[in-house]
Amino acid sequence: MDLTFSERELAFRDELRAWLAANDPGPEPAEEAAHYAWRRDFQRRLYEGGWAAVHWPPEHGGRGATLTESAIFFEELGRARAPLPANVLGILLGGPTPMVWGTDAQKDRFLGPILSGEEIWCQGFSEPDAGSDLAALKTRAVPDGDGWRVTGQKVWTSGAQYSKWCMLVARTDTEAAKHKGLTYFLMDMEQDAVQVRPLRQITGESEFNELFIEDAWIAGDCLVGGVGNGWKVALTTLMNERAGLAFFLQVRLRRLLDDLIGEAAARGLLQDDVVADRLGALHVKAEILRLTAYRGLTAIERYGQPGPEGSLTKWMWSEANQELAQVAADVLGPEALLQGTRWGYELMRARGNSIEGGTTEILKNIVAERVLGLPRAGRS
Ligand SMILES: Cc1cc2nc3c(=O)[nH]c(=O)nc-3n(C[C@H](O)[C@H](O)[C@H](O)COP(=O)(O)OP(=O)(O)OC[C@H]3O[C@@H](n4cnc5c(N)ncnc54)[C@H](O)[C@@H]3O)c2cc1C
Repeated sequence: MDLTFSERELAFRDELRAWLAANDPGPEPAEEAAHYAWRRDFQRRLYEGGWAAVHWPPEHGGRGATLTESAIFFEELGRARAPLPANVLGILLGGPTPMVWGTDAQKDRFLGPILSGEEIWCQGFSEPDAGSDLAALKTRAVPDGDGWRVTGQKVWTSGAQYSKWCMLVARTDTEAAKHKGLTYFLMDMEQDAVQVRPLRQITGESEFNELFIEDAWIAGDCLVGGVGNGWKVALTTLMNERAGLAFFLQVRLRRLLDDLIGEAAARGLLQDDVVADRLGALHVKAEILRLTAYRGLTAIERYGQPGPEGSLTKWMWSEANQELAQVAADVLGPEALLQGTRWGYELMRARGNSIEGGTTEILKNIVAERVLGLPRAGRS
């Protein structure tokens, strides 16, 4: 693994740094609607500056950035304390899926508005009885004239309340084996047959929602990748999920840790051996995470596809972030337990880290089976 940047990568980083310095996103609003508006505004600025999706090919409005440049992009975003763009799911997962599986007409129709943030996308995969075991999903789509009628329920749909389009996986064949009877659609959220009910989290905000879909209409040209091919198309979406985020997450962890060290210093607690020891351990974890994220990148560059490091970094990040939030609570004392405070928010939000984007148990299964070659869970 070579951690030195090439001339081209350094030029990319410097250009981005200069742009971010001239486009300060401003302070992060605490209130949910204002926070979302802040992220949407920042995406518009990224778009106007040509930075909305650096990893997309130039013909689709990106910069054709290499993996290392994409990693630099997320690192610099984190360093500048800039938010993830409002349409992060559209940019990271949504757009790249029709790029692989979509028709030219779909690429023309959908990619531009994702980039500009004009049309926000959400991911309608999980259901009440299908999360880790996604192929068990029951939402049903049946052909109707030149389109499809869809009925079912989705849950945990992040950002659905702001979204125009939903990446929806539905069952189109109840007779076929469970992975084979699925089809991937783009569902227009702006119809009465789709009801979005925000779920209130322990933090008080509603990042995700329930979707109640009752005979919703999907036009035939919004089917992606062919009937019965939904599992493969969904895997493309999922594979893109962690690719860039690992870098943003490791930088976010570093930033939080630096802030926490500052809080501890301000309270004279760096002299306390127990506190110093716990902060030191977190520093080591943050460094391991950074280097593992780079190792994953090297694997993709060498073998052309993500290695198991993706699961490892997500698992390590969630554990480290939860530990950090707990150390913060111990350092700050009762102050960290108050709602509406930064560290109180971190403590509560961190609970979901080991569930979102793949639970820790599932990630451990992946590492056990695909890295260590242990027998598959529940099977002899
Ligand atoms: C903040 C957040 C945002 C999310 N956003 C979205 C989104 O936008 N779109 C979307 O589709 N989904 C989203 N999700 C859903 C997320 O992908 C699922 O919660 C996750 O896949 C787990 O599914 P589940 O909740 O149904 O739990 P289950 O799969 O029911 O799991 C329950 C428990 O059993 C364990 N378990 C299950 N199977 C196994 C096994 N084989 N071996 C060992 N243990 C096992 C799990 O680890 C877990 O602890 C989001 C979740 C969170 C927390």
